[in-house]
Amino acid sequence: MSANGVVAPAIQLPWKQFFAGGTIACAACVPSVSAQELKDFPACRTSKNQHRLELEQKYEFNGIRVFYTQTGPHALYTVADLNRNGVPDMVEDAALHLDTVRQIFNRNGFRDPLDSPRFRHAESIDIDFLNFDVYSPEITDKRGLSFSGVIRYPGSRIRADKCAISMAINSSLKGNHERVKDYLIPHELFHLYQYGYTMFRASWFLEGMAKWAEWVTLAENDRNPTLWSTPLPASAQELNERVFLNPNPYDVRHFWNRLAELAKKKEFPMIVPPELRNRRFADGTPVIRDNIWRGRALMLKILEGLDAEDDAAAQENKIQPYAWANEEQRNTAHNPRLMKVVQRALASYGIAGAEVRQFLAIDPVPSTPREGENRLIPSIPGRGHER
Ligand SMILES: [Zn+2]
Repeated sequence: MSANGVVAPAIQLPWKQFFAGGTIACAACVPSVSAQELKDFPACRTSKNQHRLELEQKYEFNGIRVFYTQTGPHALYTVADLNRNGVPDMVEDAALHLDTVRQIFNRNGFRDPLDSPRFRHAESIDIDFLNFDVYSPEITDKRGLSFSGVIRYPGSRIRADKCAISMAINSSLKGNHERVKDYLIPHELFHLYQYGYTMFRASWFLEGMAKWAEWVTLAENDRNPTLWSTPLPASAQELNERVFLNPNPYDVRHFWNRLAELAKKKEFPMIVPPELRNRRFADGTPVIRDNIWRGRALMLKILEGLDAEDDAAAQENKIQPYAWANEEQRNTAHNPRLMKVVQRALASYGIAGAEVRQFLAIDPVPSTPREGENRLIPSIPGRGHER
């Protein structure tokens, strides 16, 4: 915070500005990493996943690679090409939206996933258009997924054996082209940022906060104004019911949006690089719907807090920084730890009033899901996160 109590945008190191410019990321550009450290970062794994190898078409934009096909089981459900440039609009709209959101996230201080130690071996962010009915039958109704692994596919010529982190968009689910222009890309991309900051994977954190992040390019005031006005939990019991044990982790957006609403008065408006302001999707609609994205400095502070907190947890539990078992990442015993990071970040804003005072007074306790609860989201070992 600066002297007048307003949270200043994060100071960017030169190499961060390089990434913020949206140019192709380059692992070698990150300074002062010893050979030993490089070995400690998660390795780039080799995959022969047949589904991905079937995506034989590629579109590239500012270092983002999109893989898709117009034939076979993974074919796009729509090949509309309004601007007649030979690239399906859904494909180029996805890349344009991702690049736009990524540049906004970065310019507002968030660390690009490719700059995070966890993804040090990744060279690009990829989007794979896959038919989820075929690719992963247990999640057929999902629109998108994001993955925390660094993977290369030597069997694919068009992937040039590059190590990448990725998201998948359901190529067969009708309406997904509209969703790509709407919340879907910001949501999945934000998961990659979350993975870059922390190993914690509680769904109330991952999904609730990603729901908040969707507002980066959406028009906040046009939808559900009540999303911002549900008061924070005032007791440990409310915290358990509405946050930790909420059977629908997406519904925890009320909690995250409320935090953002409370913080907004003490934050600078979001930074939108001028060159992005007039970007349009292939159908002519604007990529950025408004200039409001409340609470971003608070969320950044929370992610940075979690970045430090997972190191402490790893040390206490004697696990390697990036070698957390899937169950450990989702372990509900970490919940109080995560919430204390949120409380500390909010406390630093010095917001007056009973709502904040009561929330900060809660001593979060570990919570175990009751039978049948918190099961909406299937846990898929080694996979990413779906919405
Ligand atoms: Zn999600």
